[in-house]
Amino acid sequence: MSDAVPQAPVNERVADPTQPARFPAGETAGGAPPLVAQGLHRTYRGVAGPELRILRGVDFTLNWGEAVAIVGASGSGKSTLLHLLGALDRPSAGSVRVGGTDVAALSEEEAAELRNKRIGFVFQFHHLLRDFTALENVMVPALIRGDSPKAAELRATALLGQVGLGARLGHKPRELSGGEQQRVAVARALVNEPYILLADEPTGDLDTATSRDVQDLLFEMKERHGVALAVVTHNRELAAKAERVLRLREGVLDNV
Ligand code: ADP
Ligand code: MG
Repeated sequence: MSDAVPQAPVNERVADPTQPARFPAGETAGGAPPLVAQGLHRTYRGVAGPELRILRGVDFTLNWGEAVAIVGASGSGKSTLLHLLGALDRPSAGSVRVGGTDVAALSEEEAAELRNKRIGFVFQFHHLLRDFTALENVMVPALIRGDSPKAAELRATALLGQVGLGARLGHKPRELSGGEQQRVAVARALVNEPYILLADEPTGDLDTATSRDVQDLLFEMKERHGVALAVVTHNRELAAKAERVLRLREGVLDNV
């Protein structure tokens, strides 16, 4: 092992604003997959009613560069699972490792930093900031990471171009169609060069034709940015585009 090799900080700017950043030393060492969940349980305690055991031992591994679809009936716990995988929530039992890092060992602040840098999220509803333009919305995670406004703008502009919105930079969410809003959300999810992309019914609110466009975009951007994708969906067409399909039923995840 050599100590002499200098390690680039993860947010070092590179000449090509679309080129992924390098990972910091240590992370993903030993070939850890981007995401590994073991024995996940999630129980919600009802205020009056009985406790709800939504997840009852979920094991899940997301490998480098792959796309996995997670399907299951409404209420089966898909969003609950995705929140745990994205370190937005903590399991009642079990572990989640992101690039080999155990989320349980992180403070709230450290978990937020991990999400900001390593994980992109796309939800059913775009969750864009309504008073911000498309460009500003995409810049936000980069500014939070500590990029200069200029670097954030450069990268956000490049990404909005990639998702076909180069002519919509100054539009606010209400001035965009549903499909365009999701395109902005995809650009925002990728602005910090994450290696995991998590999507929760990303086309659930779109008509058939627009849904197809957003599906294609998601997979195109996955390839282009080399991210591993886990997507929760009801849409069979979208699930069929993934390399693996898993079904959540009665609290466990099985191959379909
Ligand atoms: P899905 O995304 O598969 O439709 P969810 O993960 O949203 O399912 O929800 C699974 C179950 O957990 C539902 O019965 C829901 O009511 C319950 N649930 C989800 N979030 C909470 C919460 N914060 N508190 C209590 N119950 C919840
Ligand atoms: Mg859901």
